[in-house]
Amino acid sequence: MLLFVVDSMRQKISLMHMLNKGQKISRLTILNFDHYNKKRDAYYLCRCDCGNEKIIRGSKIGKITHSCGCLRLEIVRRKKPELSNEKSHLWKENVGYRAIHLWVIKNKGKANKCSHCGANTGKIEWANIDHKYRRNLDDYIQLCTSCHRDYDIKNNNYRGRW
Ligand SMILES: [Zn+2]
Ligand SMILES: [Zn+2]
Repeated sequence: MLLFVVDSMRQKISLMHMLNKGQKISRLTILNFDHYNKKRDAYYLCRCDCGNEKIIRGSKIGKITHSCGCLRLEIVRRKKPELSNEKSHLWKENVGYRAIHLWVIKNKGKANKCSHCGANTGKIEWANIDHKYRRNLDDYIQLCTSCHRDYDIKNNNYRGRW
């Protein structure tokens, strides 16, 4: 009787380890059963959300292994913010420019005439005079795209974002 219980428990455990095709665990999607090792551990071919494919022991999936390894890399990056800081900093800057740009349009209207060459066709943008992007409406002049580029290169050696 005891033997039977132990046996059925063992069976249950091994069934628990059986993974179905298409099953998604953490970042991993089970593509196919791959092989058994000598200890009868099942290995599966998995596809990670990042696109990598990897053969992983079934009993590890979702417990020890949640991705092809990319997740661990991300966690390391998160713990060492200097690795990803530069990107997020740039991103914040971009959002800042955009917000100020929208604010200028809201207060001064859409730019429609270049104050350098007088062009009123094509793309006219609000350009920031000193590139400090302060919330001072007098710091912004209307420039067509080509004057804007010339102006930025001449004055600041800077290729403007807008
Ligand atoms: Zn991955
Ligand atoms: Zn112009």
